[in-house]
Amino acid sequence: MRKSLKAVAAGAACVVAGAALYGAGAATAGQSTANSTHEPYNIGLLVKDIDTYYGTTADGAGVYQASPDSPYAKDLARIDRDAERYIDKAARKAHHRGERPAVVFDIDDTLLLSLDYEKRYNYTYNATTWNDYVNKADRPAVFGSPELVRYAESKGVEVFYNSGLSESQRAGAVENLKKVGADVNLDAGHMFLKDKANPPAYLKDCATAGTWNCTTVQYKAGTRGHIERDLGYEIIANFGDQYSDLDGGHADRTYKLPNPTYFVG
Ligand SMILES: [Mg+2]
Repeated sequence: MRKSLKAVAAGAACVVAGAALYGAGAATAGQSTANSTHEPYNIGLLVKDIDTYYGTTADGAGVYQASPDSPYAKDLARIDRDAERYIDKAARKAHHRGERPAVVFDIDDTLLLSLDYEKRYNYTYNATTWNDYVNKADRPAVFGSPELVRYAESKGVEVFYNSGLSESQRAGAVENLKKVGADVNLDAGHMFLKDKANPPAYLKDCATAGTWNCTTVQYKAGTRGHIERDLGYEIIANFGDQYSDLDGGHADRTYKLPNPTYFVG
């Protein structure tokens, strides 16, 4: 479900096609659907565009890193500024009404950047290499996201994580989030990961023990529903790098972080 090569090519192509049409007002870079009615963007040029967007360079250890001066970093800074202003205001309102405000963060490419993996494997996905990469727990932060987690906490907003990583990847995720300074509520009561073998009761419409049929949207929106309905929080903002992180309701506001490197339907 995370990404097939086909999905990568289709998603990536439409992202840049959208950018090319931006001036005409016909589309934006953050497209959520593929468009196969015209010749797609040249994939060799697309890879170069992605390198430019992230300001990608190999560090001394040969690990691909994004540049803090890149267009990617600037886009994130703009989103974070807006989000901080909003969280401050929404948290005050919620507290005034006697609600318990919460924010929800996706993990992969919302808090932890996978650029090195994506570039190294030419924007394809393989469950084994991905698992090894995640469990090294050495991904850098998505610029500004750990600060946003801590900002929300400082405003009395409960931080939750809603990720497609599996239970077997929990220890690596916790270690990596601590390392980048997102050291807030990293317990199992706040970090929701995919447990296909023993899905929670609130996902019963699409998953039972041994049978997992949830789409990403069903899984993620179902988890947010649980946070609101069963845990009693009001989700004021939901942060993700995929539209499937954000669709399905249960958030007053959604923030789409940039990620042109793969598409998760
Ligand atoms: Mg993600």
